[in-house]
Amino acid sequence: MQFSDQGSKNDILYWSKRLYQKEMSPSTSGNVSLRTQKGILITTSGVCLNDMNEEDIVLIDYNGNLIEGNKKPSSEKIMHTEIYTKRDDINAIIHCHCPLITAFCVAGKSINKPILPDFALMYDKIPLIPYLCPSTIELAEAVGICFEKNNNVALLQNHGVVLGSDTLQNAFYQLEFLRAYVQTYFGAEVISSAKALSKKQVAEIRQLYIKK
Ligand code: 13P
Ligand code: ZN
Repeated sequence: MQFSDQGSKNDILYWSKRLYQKEMSPSTSGNVSLRTQKGILITTSGVCLNDMNEEDIVLIDYNGNLIEGNKKPSSEKIMHTEIYTKRDDINAIIHCHCPLITAFCVAGKSINKPILPDFALMYDKIPLIPYLCPSTIELAEAVGICFEKNNNVALLQNHGVVLGSDTLQNAFYQLEFLRAYVQTYFGAEVISSAKALSKKQVAEIRQLYIKK
């Protein structure tokens, strides 16, 4: 994967702002990173994703050591490095406390109901990792193990969500899709109940798209 550092920093600034502005990463929660040839560019600790500038993005190595920059890297840096180490197809990671998605995490529920065809196409289940203290090695390792099993997204109980993709743009779109899924789910539950597609309907949509 080849990025120029300036382009990568701009990418992080752009998608971080969109995350905040779409109310997916409130206040100073959340962190964003991007794999580059020189290491991993990651947001610094305690910043609001809407209000960052270039100095709020630093370069770390795969052990979380600071290579470039003067500020403290995100306290979840090892969660990011664990994923990059385990998955060479993932180049961009978003961790956030999106309130709607986090509601599932607080309810202690994984997301597994195929209520929409596009969900059925992309996922069987979005796993929930049992609660571990934020910013710890224990949480980072549990996330690494989850992603090693080919999950690209995980819910963190009573905390938030972490998602990886090939680019930051795709990571953002995936997260936005999940947030929309959750909104639709809650809306349906308020009206009556969120009804899942049948196994046959799931198989049908999967077959149609796999054939394409
Ligand atoms: P940082 O501000 O250190 O990146 O941490 C935010 C967060 O979401 C902790 O889980
Ligand atoms: Zn967090």
